[in-house]
Amino acid sequence: MSNTGDSCIFCLIARGDAPAALVYRDDRVLAFMDLFPLSRGHLLVVPRAHAENIFEISEADMLEVAALQLRIAAVLKAELDPDGIAVYQANGAAAGQTVFHYHVHLIPRADGEGFDFANRKTADRGELSRLAARLMESLQRGPQN
Ligand SMILES: [Zn+2]
Repeated sequence: MSNTGDSCIFCLIARGDAPAALVYRDDRVLAFMDLFPLSRGHLLVVPRAHAENIFEISEADMLEVAALQLRIAAVLKAELDPDGIAVYQANGAAAGQTVFHYHVHLIPRADGEGFDFANRKTADRGELSRLAARLMESLQRGPQN
């Protein structure tokens, strides 16, 4: 593990020391809205423990992240009914990683939409918070209801 200190934005969010539109948090993993969404509902699932990439994350944390992806994907489908959901995870700058704390993107997609990471805009924080609250409530309720 490297850089568990104050400079990693996802560590700060995990500790509650930086703001984020949280959808879920427990002692191992958390999910929050991407501040630069590719689409409405674009969010990130990350381990609380700092790990830069797939070469550093523990198997236990990887499994927790995967389990939360399942639950989050079900909630996105139930609440936003996208045509599809892209799951994207980059390791290393060459792969497109820009925040060096392991994270998985879940990105609702619409038919015919492009996939352009260079074309992301800063989201409205109020709208992100409202959507996060709705998804959090749905997650707690269970997507089957
Ligand atoms: Zn970190």
